Amino acid sequence: MIDRARVERCVAAEERRFVAAHPQSRVLFERARASLLAGVPMPWMVRWPGGFPVFVREGRGAHFTDVDGHQYLDLCLGDTGAMTGHAPEAAVAAITAQVRRGITFMLPGEDAIWVAEELARRFGLPYWQFALTATDANRFAIRLARRVTGRPKILVFNWCYHGTVDETFVTLTPSGPAPRPGNTGPAVNPAETTRVVEFNDVAALERALATGDVACVLAEPAMTNIGIILPDPGFHDALRDLTTRTGTVLIIDETHTICTGPGGYTAAHRLAPDMVTLGKPIGSGVPGAAYGLAAELAGRVRAAIKTDEADTGGIGGTLAGNALSFAAMRATLGEVLTEAAFARAIPLAERWTTGVQQVIAECGLPWIVQRLGCRAEYWFRATAPRNGGEAAAAADPLLDRYMHLAALNRGILLTPFHNMALIAPDVTETDIDRHTAVFRESVQAIGG
Ligand code: PMP
Repeated sequence: MIDRARVERCVAAEERRFVAAHPQSRVLFERARASLLAGVPMPWMVRWPGGFPVFVREGRGAHFTDVDGHQYLDLCLGDTGAMTGHAPEAAVAAITAQVRRGITFMLPGEDAIWVAEELARRFGLPYWQFALTATDANRFAIRLARRVTGRPKILVFNWCYHGTVDETFVTLTPSGPAPRPGNTGPAVNPAETTRVVEFNDVAALERALATGDVACVLAEPAMTNIGIILPDPGFHDALRDLTTRTGTVLIIDETHTICTGPGGYTAAHRLAPDMVTLGKPIGSGVPGAAYGLAAELAGRVRAAIKTDEADTGGIGGTLAGNALSFAAMRATLGEVLTEAAFARAIPLAERWTTGVQQVIAECGLPWIVQRLGCRAEYWFRATAPRNGGEAAAAADPLLDRYMHLAALNRGILLTPFHNMALIAPDVTETDIDRHTAVFRESVQAIGG
């Protein structure tokens, strides 16, 4: 239905418009090329469309300005790190106060207990530990699962993302698990460490766990990193039942699915995992991550780890559990990432979804929209994918690049990797309707 040559012409036109409108970002990018590899501080930042990234001046709530003075509606929100908006007042006050009182001590303060109590209340798991990133929370959770089970392998779902955890950089191919395309310098072939099955495939899961050598299943409760993929009815019951029966630790990664509500997908759908991991928004952008343990697993971990070896077990991070991180998490959980914030953001995400759906219907496109809490995403396919393999097959890098750049040129930032929008609580209905108008204009320009 879509004329590809026309999309390519539109991309070229949008690229010219982007370059013309961002002279200051371009100057900074040219300077950056002399000191930053590829001109960017992180390898994936070369994925921003337009030829170079927009350089930020400052942000507040769901909006930010760039060095050329353009204002943007931010639907990327630091890929969830700033899910509740930039510089939320309560968090900023607590963070700046804590900076003056000391940042890192290698000793706990009362904030650590408050945060653990609050996470226990939200997620229903009684014991908590802390890290700086969700990647580390996942790495430590995997280590503990291997320690208590004495098993070597882990299991993940095809096209998952759980941070830069070596074992998870693997996809399913017709000849079995293989390193994910782009997996840079893997220490070992992840096919040796990891079983991979498709999400929602209970029979494959059962076969993969039957051998009894899998320490843990690490899963997002709904996939979000290859687009939003919801679990089939009954999938989580089967996952819990199979992991229990095979003595496999079930780790639910709520780093993105916290968008479902204050206790993530776990609380909203009454899941009962052995562990929960999360990071990103829980410190309003100040690095902080957590992993929770069910009582039974916590008892096994305590019994397995000797006091004299507790500092050499491969679970660490000098700056993890620092005072600033806890102050940020306390303020965020107490006053920012609250029930009230979700009550504002979720209806706005519904409005975003309805708007995009209306345009898709008007234009007769075979596209769909999927939503999970305050996160929503459109797909260039006619039906919702049930697993990562189906989702990956529907990827369309050219259309992605066009939609992202057309939005950016009209003052809207989407997450760079697929077509995901995250809605912060202070977004307005006018902002949402502006996105719908931009989406309509972009689609009509390519003949939709
Ligand atoms: N888990 C999930 C589900 C994620 O989406 C991500 C990052 N996108 C991570 C873990 C890792 O987070 P971080 O990069 O902050 O360590």
